[in-house]
This record gives sequence, structure tokens and C-alpha cells, in this order.
Amino acid sequence: MFFNRCGQTRSNPSRSRPHAMEVNTEVEEEPPSQAIDYTIALPLTAARPLTNRPSIKPVPNYPVSFRRKFLKIYYPDISDRQWNNWQWQIANRVCKPSQLKRFLTLSSEENAAMAGLATRLPLAITPYYLSLLVGHDMDYPLRKSVVPTINEFVQMPEEADDPLNEDHQSPVPGLVHRYPDRVLFLLLDFCSTYCRYCTRSRVVGHGRLHFNRKRLEQAMEYIRRTPTVRDVLLSGGDPLTLGDSRLDWLLTRLRQIKHVEIIRIGTKIPAVLPQRVTSQLVRMLKRHHPLWMSLHFTHPDECTPEASQACQRLADAGIPLGSQTVLLKNINDSVETMNSLVHRLLRMRVRPYYLYQCDPISGSSHFRTTVDKGLEIIQRLRGFTSGYAVPTYVIDAPGGGGKIPLMPEYRQGRDGCDLVLRNYEGKTYRYPDSV
Ligand SMILES: *Cc1c(COP(=O)(O)O)cnc(C)c1O
Ligand code: SF4
Repeated sequence: MFFNRCGQTRSNPSRSRPHAMEVNTEVEEEPPSQAIDYTIALPLTAARPLTNRPSIKPVPNYPVSFRRKFLKIYYPDISDRQWNNWQWQIANRVCKPSQLKRFLTLSSEENAAMAGLATRLPLAITPYYLSLLVGHDMDYPLRKSVVPTINEFVQMPEEADDPLNEDHQSPVPGLVHRYPDRVLFLLLDFCSTYCRYCTRSRVVGHGRLHFNRKRLEQAMEYIRRTPTVRDVLLSGGDPLTLGDSRLDWLLTRLRQIKHVEIIRIGTKIPAVLPQRVTSQLVRMLKRHHPLWMSLHFTHPDECTPEASQACQRLADAGIPLGSQTVLLKNINDSVETMNSLVHRLLRMRVRPYYLYQCDPISGSSHFRTTVDKGLEIIQRLRGFTSGYAVPTYVIDAPGGGGKIPLMPEYRQGRDGCDLVLRNYEGKTYRYPDSV
């Protein structure tokens, strides 16, 4: 599966952020809602009248068989129901180096990063995502995407904390209005698992942007009095780490604004916490159509049976699914890996939407590839596989210019009235472009 770009957790030696801030925002002031919905809980059998009908067996939301070995070693006392409870997953995230050492033998690069972690660096990995990492060494792509190394403390001159200038295109805190007809609405700065390459690491995981009613009302008021906004993109942090009732409240409020035609949710949940996608959640989301979703997937190994089931539920609810992937050095920057990722996405009914050139955010040099690398990958996909499998490769322009698409050059020039073109195999063709 893939990831969409949400906030991430890179940190910078100059920034000090107490680890204790890493708190689920559910404790913040909240709009009317019930606090927690234990969506997987089934009716108590004792409460049901006795009948001679066969009793309904509690069915776990997600198959646990794929994680059996991991659970036996690391969580022997945890029931399948707990494992499948997304709130249990969030409450039991691995956030401390000492906890991580139970699962992985840390390399010197990782250890060195961890030494300063307690004061500087948000680290969080769900037990589910950890189960994908154990048994793999430090070169494993999924591990590199969530376990910090000393490299993220390297600050290059071309890097900045906010290269996309989001803070200056923000009329209201947490709302970025860059394009004429759509806004990016950051609901909170919390993610269940932090990606080391997160483009919004200056915001994400710092415990400063909350699902706070007053701020949200302010942002919605801006949308209400800006009739050109027809598309609202909910992001963060990860919006799906909010409980159903809070999301429902927000979506209901947004739907009351006549000129908001579509709502989009950007999330990495299917890749890092698929258990969050409960039937209750999708039932609620369905009531707010037209609703679209951008899922963040980075590597084919994220496309597990659980992730696949989460996508299936969302797709069955009629939500069109796109994916966003950041091109990352030694993680997914090969034709083979990307080819496998896009094919797996299509099988999960997810349409590859964007492939992002990695933004020059502070501490990202070990993740960044050349632009030629991205172009090479696109060139080796286009024509060789389903058109639906080929994402648009974009650079989010530093300075806040928005997403700029990049394509391999298929035009070879003109010959009189003819446009000379190259096809995917490199053969030359002409089009009479004379009218
Ligand atoms: C990416 C982005 C959007 C959405 O862009 P689309 O190309 O429509 O997906 C909107 N606002 C901001 C600030 C963005 O970065
Ligand atoms: S999931 Fe969170 S940490 Fe990862 S890229 Fe998105 S916002 Fe950043």
C-alpha cells in the first residue's frame, strides 16, 4: 500500500520538544461527541434473550493469523480483540527507544539518533506497523521510514522547516489556502505512526495543533465566507486518528456549507493502523458523500491483508481512493519497487494519484533522490503498464508555488507541420499538427 503525505516527525536539533507532548489529542477540548467508541465491542451475550438460534460468534474485525507469530513472542497476553482495537493500538504505540529495543537490534546510526530522542524527536510506531518491521535489519525500507537515524540531524543549506511556505498562506491557524478553489485543513498534529520524511514535521507531533473547537469553527467560518472554496482537503496529522463522533461532527458542519462540493481526507491509516477502518467508521463516512480519500503508501510491503481489507471497506462505501507516495532514496526509488507498489495498489482498488519529489525539509538529505530518478521511474511505468497505475510525478514548489507536474519528454521537436514524438519504447512517430 501507499502512503499519502501527511505530517511527519523529523526533528531538528534546534527544536526541542518534550517527549511527553506525544499525547493523543482526544484529551483536548472537543466538539460534542461521545468520548470513545469501542467500535469492535459486540453486544454482550448475556444481554441477549435466550433463543434456540445458533449464537452469533464474535468475529474479529481483521484476521490476526498473519501476526500470530509476532503476537506470541511480543504480546502473548493480548487478545485478538485487543489487537484489533485501534484505540489499543494507539495507546500501545512504541514511543521510547527503550521500548523499541525490545523489538529491534538498533544500529549505531539509529542508536545515535535515539540518544537525543527523549528531548527532541517524536517517535511513534503502532504495534501493527512494528509487526511488519521485526526480523528485518536497518536497511529494510519500512524500518527506515519510521525509525530515526542520526542522518535526520544533518541540516543542509537548501533545507528549511517550512519550504512550502504553508505558514504564510494560512489565513487561519491550521488552514492553508494556496489554490483558488480548495483549501488544506489541518485538523490536528497527531499521527499514529510518524514518518521520518514527513513534509509537515514542523507541525506534526508537536502537540500544538489540536482538534480544538474554537480553532475549527474559525477555519470553517473562513470557508463559509469564501465561496470560491469548493473542495476541502482534511489533513494533519492524520484525521482518522480522531474518533468517529468528532469526525462526524466536523463533516456534518462542513456539509452545511453550500459551496463545499467535495471533501477529501488524507490519511496513512490503512498502511499503519488498518484496524481503525471499522464498519462503524465507513457507515458514518458514507453519510457525507461526495467524499474522496488520499491514502499514503510508501512501499509494497505495506500492502498487507489487513491494509487490503481496510481499503476494501472504504471502496465498498463508495469512497474513491487515491494514493500519494513520496519518492524516497533506498526505500522506493527503483522501478521494481514502484512497479510492485502501483500494481498492489490497483489490486486494493487504490488509484495511484501523486508521486512526490521529496521536499527539502530540514534533515531530509538522506531521503532525497534526484529528479531524474523520478522521471526514469515514470518513464518505465507509462506505456509498460495500466495507465491507471501511473501516478502524476510532482514537485511541490519551494516557496509555495504549489504542485508542479513533471513528465518525461515525449516531444522530440517539429519537422515542418509535423510534431515529432517518441513513444514509450523510444520509437519515433509523427503527428500532423497543422490545423
Ligand atoms: C496538495 C495541496 C492541495 C490539493 O492539491 P490537488 O492537486 O488538488 O490534489 C491543496 N492545497 C494545498 C496547500 C496542497 O498542498
Ligand atoms: S502520516 Fe503523519 S507523519 Fe506520516 S507523512 Fe503523514 S502527517 Fe507526516
